[in-house]
Parts: sequence; structure tokens; C-alpha cells
Amino acid sequence: MGGAHASTRGGAGSANLDPNVKRCSHCKATQTPLWRRDPTTFKPLCNACGLYLQQRNRLRPQVLIDADGEEEDQNYVGPECSHCRTHHTSVWRRSKTGAQLCNACGVYARLRGKPRPLSLKRNKIKPRSKHPKPVIPS
Ligand SMILES: [Zn+2]
Ligand SMILES: [Zn+2]
Repeated sequence: MGGAHASTRGGAGSANLDPNVKRCSHCKATQTPLWRRDPTTFKPLCNACGLYLQQRNRLRPQVLIDADGEEEDQNYVGPECSHCRTHHTSVWRRSKTGAQLCNACGVYARLRGKPRPLSLKRNKIKPRSKHPKPVIPS
């Protein structure tokens, strides 16, 4: 049982730049179906950059990388509040059970010790589309 488990929590919360996260040395992608390597520098490359380099003998142009990013954005399954299902929040929080919560739900749960009633959420009332009443000739 080793006592000192390294749990260093740096004040400058830069979770996105975790050095433990492997990223493509070219396009900085952190997720790829297959990791490849630059055959000359041996730096990690994502599948797309690795393939491109292999086939064309040059690095994938930034234009293609940007286009790829846009594509991924559509499929991107972002964090979702486990309670109110919102995708938009200034900061993500965690419930006691570790579930993902939006800021509103997280703060409410912490302050009141119970889940935020979803009825509090302002539902935007959509203007009803005018259904023309069937005119029944009398
Ligand atoms: Zn890449
Ligand atoms: Zn929520």
C-alpha cells in the first residue's frame, strides 16, 4: 500500500491540455480510430494525418484539417446535463453520484440538496401556428 498517490491538482485548471492525453502532433486531434507515427520524427499522428503523409508524402494541409473539424462537429456528442438534458451551460458540474450536471442543476442540487425541479426551467412558449378552423357551412 503506497501512501503517496500523486494527486496534484494544479490551480491553473487547464484540463484540455492534459499532457497525458495523446494528441496528433500535426492537427492536435486527441481522438482517432488509429494512431500512426510520422516515419521520420516518430511523433504521434492521427489516422487521417498519418494516412495522408503516407500516401502523399507530405503533411495534411490545414484546409483539410479544418474541414474535418467541421464534419466532426456535427457528430460531436457533447456533454449533456443528466438532469435537464441541456447542452449549453457556462460550466459543467458533477452530482454526488458523479453524473454530469449543468451549472444550474449542479448549483441547485448543492444548495438545496435535491434535484432542480424542471418546472422551474422557463419553457419558451412557441406561438401556436394558426390552424384555420374548418368552416362548416350552415
Ligand atoms: Zn492529425
Ligand atoms: Zn441541467
